[in-house]
Amino acid sequence: MPGPVEPIGGGRTAAAPPPDPARSAAFLSALAARLPGLAVRTDPADLEAHRRDETVNLEPPLPLAVASPSSAGEVAEIVRLAAAHRVPIVPRGEGSGLSGGAAAVAGGLTLTFRRMASVVSIDPADLVATVQPGLINATFKALVAEEGLFYPPDPASQDICSLGGNVGTNAGGLCCVKYGVTRESVLSLEVVLADGSIIRTGGATMKDVAGYDLTRLFVGSQGTLGVVTEITVRLRPAPPPKLTMLAFFATLPHAGDAVARITASRVVPCTLEMMDGFTIRAVEEYGHFGFDTTAAAMLMVESDAPGRAAAEELAVAERACRDAGSTFTVSSTDPVEADLLRQGRRSAWWAIERLGLARMEDVAVPRSRMADLVAEVEQVLDAEGMPGGTFGHVGDGNLHPSFIVARDDPDGTERIDRARQRVYAAAIALGGTVTGEHGIGLAKRDWLERTRGEGAVRAMRAVKGALDPLGIMNPGKVLPD
Ligand SMILES: Cc1cc2nc3c(=O)[nH]c(=O)nc-3n(C[C@H](O)[C@H](O)[C@H](O)COP(=O)(O)OP(=O)(O)OC[C@H]3O[C@@H](n4cnc5c(N)ncnc54)[C@H](O)[C@@H]3O)c2cc1C
Repeated sequence: MPGPVEPIGGGRTAAAPPPDPARSAAFLSALAARLPGLAVRTDPADLEAHRRDETVNLEPPLPLAVASPSSAGEVAEIVRLAAAHRVPIVPRGEGSGLSGGAAAVAGGLTLTFRRMASVVSIDPADLVATVQPGLINATFKALVAEEGLFYPPDPASQDICSLGGNVGTNAGGLCCVKYGVTRESVLSLEVVLADGSIIRTGGATMKDVAGYDLTRLFVGSQGTLGVVTEITVRLRPAPPPKLTMLAFFATLPHAGDAVARITASRVVPCTLEMMDGFTIRAVEEYGHFGFDTTAAAMLMVESDAPGRAAAEELAVAERACRDAGSTFTVSSTDPVEADLLRQGRRSAWWAIERLGLARMEDVAVPRSRMADLVAEVEQVLDAEGMPGGTFGHVGDGNLHPSFIVARDDPDGTERIDRARQRVYAAAIALGGTVTGEHGIGLAKRDWLERTRGEGAVRAMRAVKGALDPLGIMNPGKVLPD
């Protein structure tokens, strides 16, 4: 008789090592001895500045120290010493994350990449570039634009987030509806593994199917499988300037219906964003961008198709909006005006977070279910008697319901938690996910199994156990305890 089959996975990664002052001190001395030039900070202000990312309602501990390496070799040496002393490593970009991925770990060393923020090469002949992880997304986009080239991923936080962080979260953005999220642009990574070895996951070719697709495995792994030290991305020729259309609606579900109709009409705009009435009014108070503050919802639709095709695409989208009951539409061909309108959409979160203790959520559903999701969000806000804005990358089926409570509301945290759990449950019931682009991080670990299923989480644990058997790579993130 064959023996019983042992299930795959099952938590072979060691539990996160508990902090131990003696071990921490030995690690920091070893670091100073082996890498005397390494910038390591332990003063309280620096530790506090690296405790959290942008996620509210999380209370992570202070890190042991913050180090800023300047080469992959230094990162490798740091990780080797960390493994020897069982000290956790937390890779951190600019800390703009909204799932607690870069939040500090007790007794852990947080790594920042401001000293590894250069362009290694831009190769216009092959439409490929290689960059270091600390480079800011918008800086890189501007550099390649000077060459007439285009790097599509454009999170609304593009001015304040790093490419390493974008790889860590598999970031999306406004134009991902047409060009895909970060993983669609990443060809290869240089990664320092948990034993301090350095690997490359691919090359600079457009096509490459040699072995398992490690690039896709590391993209979105939120620093839990290794530290990314170099990123090779594909570039595209710069598209023509965009044409922009705004459509306004008297109810939110009408706008949701318009999204489904635009998708079904088979046009693929390069932007399909939504803001509800609450968000429009908050944005107008924040910056005066010229949006209609009486509307219950607005869609921003853009096309960067060449020649007449752009106007034709927008005409199809406009018809879909009218069929869904839009109250009026307005178009702009002026790039300066279009940039301002896009800036208005990008400022949605800054406009909302001023209004109290606010939490931006990140759920996604199949695009045909967008109207159902926005209706569910409205019900949750009504049931909680809570103000909130709903906006997001609706062309991708990705919505950011944002919940707001008074900063001094003693039940505020609980109320936000209740609201977000109800929205997660609704997204899953609609065939969707609890995170479209921000990641599971620390904030949504309890929902991973409900989203992906027990078997898939077991397989994830098997991968984690194989690549990080000591459990030192950003422990406690993504996988539930
Ligand atoms: C106003 C606002 C708007 C936003 N809009 C969007 C949006 O449109 N789309 C979107 O996707 N996100 C958005 N975000 C969330 C956030 O900006 C993105 O998740 C971004 O990718 C995080 O980049 P960061 O450099 O700040 O990374 P961090 O927050 O510092 O880190 C993010 C994750 O990546 C890991 N990481 C960082 N560097 C490395 C590395 N070198 N190696 C391995 N892992 C690493 C970290 O451990 C962490 O898990 C927004 C945030 C804000 C505040």
